[in-house]
Amino acid sequence: MKKNGEALSYEELLQKVAEQQLQITILEDEKNAITNFEYFVKESPDLVCIADTDSYYKVVNDGFVKVLGYSKEELLSRPFTDFIHPDDLEKTFAEVKLLTKNSPTIDFENRYVKKNGQLVFLQWRANLNTSNNLIYAIARDITEIRRTQEKLLSSEKSLNEAQKIAKIGSWDFNLMTQELNWSNELYEIFEIENKPNDPKLYAKYLSCFSPEDGEELNKKIANTIANKVPYEMEHRIFLTDNKIKWVFCTGVPILDKKNNVVALKGVVQNITQKKLIDDTIKAKEKAEAANKAKSDFLANMSHEIRTPLNGIVGFTDLLLKTTFDKDQLEYLNTVNESASTLMDIINNILDFSKIEAGKLELIYEEIDVVELTNQIINLFKYEANHKKIDLILHIEKNVPQYILGDSFRLKQILVNLLSNAMKFTFSGHIKLNVSQEEESELISKIKFSVIDTGIGIKVQNQNKIFQSFVQADNTTTRRYGGTGLGLAISSKLLALKKSELKLYSSYGVGSEFFFTISFEKISKKQNRKMDEKKIKIEKPAKTDNTLANYRIMIVEDNKINMLLVKTLVNKIISNCTIVEVSNGFDAVLLVQKEMPDLVLMDIQMPIQNGYDATLEIRKLEKFKDLPIIALTAGVLNGEKEKCMEHGMSDYITKPIVLSELEKVLFKWLKKNRKIFTL
Ligand code: ADP
Repeated sequence: MKKNGEALSYEELLQKVAEQQLQITILEDEKNAITNFEYFVKESPDLVCIADTDSYYKVVNDGFVKVLGYSKEELLSRPFTDFIHPDDLEKTFAEVKLLTKNSPTIDFENRYVKKNGQLVFLQWRANLNTSNNLIYAIARDITEIRRTQEKLLSSEKSLNEAQKIAKIGSWDFNLMTQELNWSNELYEIFEIENKPNDPKLYAKYLSCFSPEDGEELNKKIANTIANKVPYEMEHRIFLTDNKIKWVFCTGVPILDKKNNVVALKGVVQNITQKKLIDDTIKAKEKAEAANKAKSDFLANMSHEIRTPLNGIVGFTDLLLKTTFDKDQLEYLNTVNESASTLMDIINNILDFSKIEAGKLELIYEEIDVVELTNQIINLFKYEANHKKIDLILHIEKNVPQYILGDSFRLKQILVNLLSNAMKFTFSGHIKLNVSQEEESELISKIKFSVIDTGIGIKVQNQNKIFQSFVQADNTTTRRYGGTGLGLAISSKLLALKKSELKLYSSYGVGSEFFFTISFEKISKKQNRKMDEKKIKIEKPAKTDNTLANYRIMIVEDNKINMLLVKTLVNKIISNCTIVEVSNGFDAVLLVQKEMPDLVLMDIQMPIQNGYDATLEIRKLEKFKDLPIIALTAGVLNGEKEKCMEHGMSDYITKPIVLSELEKVLFKWLKKNRKIFTL
């Protein structure tokens, strides 16, 4: 039918049907499309929603439920602000407010709180439909991305911190894009401002180089690119304010799959501190070497000086025992005293330099306190008698007689203190006092003090006299002589035993120098009874005529020493035969021919030294018990032990003193009398 009621023709009807058919198809397509779209929306992993401007969702897809864990009912029944992280609410409102007719689309990010309390990062695109004032929005869960980014940031932070600690900066350079990236630490090292994409960065970097280093670096980089090999370089960098740093840099080529260099990567380490330490170590080593050279020089020099001095002291000693007129005796005494003083000075300087170089080691051996202190006092008795000063040795009863320590060094300190006391005392007394301060089962803490009634020391000088080469005032040398080394050496020696030299002194009244040392006790023998006493002068040893007809071999390269030893031996044993040999090698040969009863053996000799010669001699069975006495310079540590290790029977230190040589000769010749007189 037509509109006006007329009937449609068949053709018209067919066309109408076709049109309706088409309409139906379109509608069906549309319906299918909507169904498909709904399907997409429903199945989308993203969160799709429609919300009103009163903060309520109108529609939410399954993505919401899946991501947030709330049911659709929960999501639709509560304002969407309930699900947003409180800290992000303000930001979200501000974003939503931006949605206007003119700007209907916004992109933003915020965090939602899932039903289980976990956080989810959402990236939104929202659109305002101005016709119905509804917001159509879609969000993507970017939690994983954000977490990864956070991790990246934190590892970058850690890397930066690690670089800071290690003082290592890193860089990479893309050859294609010419992009250069520096780590924070690298900017710190070069003290260049960190500006992103700074086109002048490489130029600024090179400006810190010296022209030669800059040229070398460019060459190295070119070589790395051309030959695909890493490079290394250590150089200085010159920064503002004349600051100089040392850096060590390395670079490696980065290759693509086709083996082309596409980038360079590298690190730069700030090694300024290390360089400084290296330089300090080098300077220290140099100073140590110089110090060693100085000590060696002093040791050699003192040996060279000591040898002729021994001659002077020895011969003047001998001469003094012969008859002279008064004047001659006085001159001779002066020569003898001067030589002895010179010897003391040399010994002091040598000791001082040895202590300074840390080369002086203490030896531990049994010390008989009574014997040692008596020996020391004996050294001063003559002068004390001469000056009419009372010389007193007092050892308190509780002091153990036998202790373990370095007797030579203990003697040296006490002799120093007593000779000072003697030097500066003109009336009254000098007293060596030994007492025990503390005692345990194994240790005895002993106090030694040297008290005098001498000139005393002014308060202002009491500290400085312990310094090396310092005397109480500059008139001291003129009036009393000395080098100002004695107290310094004594203090240094005591420091090796963790002890200290102390002083009480009253100017014009007298002084007391004292120290305490902890010694290991030796419970071998019972304590003796020791009372305060004035020392009597010992009688000289008598000549023993029973030692006649012996053969004594003297092995000594120095002619003066040889003459001295020979003279001394002849003085002790008037009719013995002396065989003179000038080196160790000849001694080994001649000993078999000469068959001596005793050998006096110098240590330092050309061709073969005394140690080696003794070893050789001892290899021969018949000389197993032959007394071989070392004549040592007595300056080196462990010399005595070394003598014994090399098979020597005994030793005497130079300068050789008649009484000591006498004792040793008597001891060994008498001991072997039976064997040698057979
Ligand atoms: P020196 O070789 O000059 O004696 P020391 O180091 O042994 O060197 O002594 C340093 C200075 O201390 C002496 O020069 C002297 O002025 C002062 N002195 C040391 N002992 C005494 C003492 N018993 N009485 C007075 N002065 C002393």
